[in-house]
Amino acid sequence: MSDNPTIFGKILRGEIPCTKVYEDDTVLAFKDINPHAKVHVVLIPKTHITWLRNATPAQQQTLGQLLLAAPKVAEAAGILKSGYRVIINDGPDSHGEVPHLHLHILGGQDLGTKIA
Ligand code: AMP
Repeated sequence: MSDNPTIFGKILRGEIPCTKVYEDDTVLAFKDINPHAKVHVVLIPKTHITWLRNATPAQQQTLGQLLLAAPKVAEAAGILKSGYRVIINDGPDSHGEVPHLHLHILGGQDLGTKIA
């Protein structure tokens, strides 16, 4: 974790604050500072994976933990029943900015039928 220079690494190390929504041994979820929906939470693994494309079979467990945490985060954010959308940005067309794998969990409103 100490060699993770990204903003999310800094959040994990407590070097910059976040508004925590959910945490367990393997993941941390916090409110996005620039929300794209009424509820917008960022969910990250505590171990550093840069981008989805760089994930390896050895990181399968972490990837599974991340996905399994999503409904727990939604519940903690009060949007499990109403529903939510999960997004991962990967690669130039996605405009992903932070090279620490993360799920965007969006909800709290009708998100429409189009994905983006
Ligand atoms: P992406 O563009 O997929 O890499 O998403 C990065 C997300 O992190 C953006 O939605 C940002 O608004 C969010 N973000 C950046 N810095 C912070 C921060 N300090 N606390 C919470 N969210 C952040």
